[in-house]
Amino acid sequence: MNLIFLGPPGAGKGTLAAKAVEILKVPHISTGNIFRAAIAAQSPLGLKVKAIIDAGKLVDDETTIALVRERLAEPDVQTGYILDGFPRTIAQAEALASFSAVGKVVNFDIPDAAVVERLSGRRVCRKCGHNFHVLFDPPKGNICGLCGGEVYTRDDDSEEAIQKRLHVYREQTAPLIDYYRQKGLLLDVDARPAVGQVVENFKKAVSVQ
Ligand code: AMP
Repeated sequence: MNLIFLGPPGAGKGTLAAKAVEILKVPHISTGNIFRAAIAAQSPLGLKVKAIIDAGKLVDDETTIALVRERLAEPDVQTGYILDGFPRTIAQAEALASFSAVGKVVNFDIPDAAVVERLSGRRVCRKCGHNFHVLFDPPKGNICGLCGGEVYTRDDDSEEAIQKRLHVYREQTAPLIDYYRQKGLLLDVDARPAVGQVVENFKKAVSVQ
């Protein structure tokens, strides 16, 4: 099953993807995670994208498309994939269609106010990528209870970057909702409840038990 996870930053796509990987047994491919790993490794890609990402802007289509095209050529995606955070522009969606058959697009629907609450309280494990929240799932100190990694606040979860990312989402990514709806590929999932309920909403949408 080739799935795309669509929705604003903070909709819970990453958290849901971690659950969906266990349910569907397909790899989770997050362009944001790939960029963050490149930044941590200080690779040429990381050096190129760090300032853009910290400011809450989008990395250029050419770089991002090349990255995903390469990743989808790996053997582990033969049984399917969950693409999280890609495509984010119509140009990316059209490029994707030229090298992979999109199955369904899951649209995680959530209002802006909830996004701001989630992102401003989000904390992330540097090692395993697990998402915590200071109110709903607080980490113990700055250590990840799952892997012992360091828990930190993403640079792009600052108040200013959150507003920028929401703006960029509305302008450049939200048009993909109608784009995929018109193709008959869109599945809407209410992303407002707590994660357990969103998992149930997701399973119902993609028809798995
Ligand atoms: P995410 O973890 O999905 O919120 O992505 C973090 C940041 O990585 C975004 O705010 C963008 O700067 C960059 N990024 C991730 N995916 C894409 C994409 N498909 N196109 C352009 N930039 C992206």
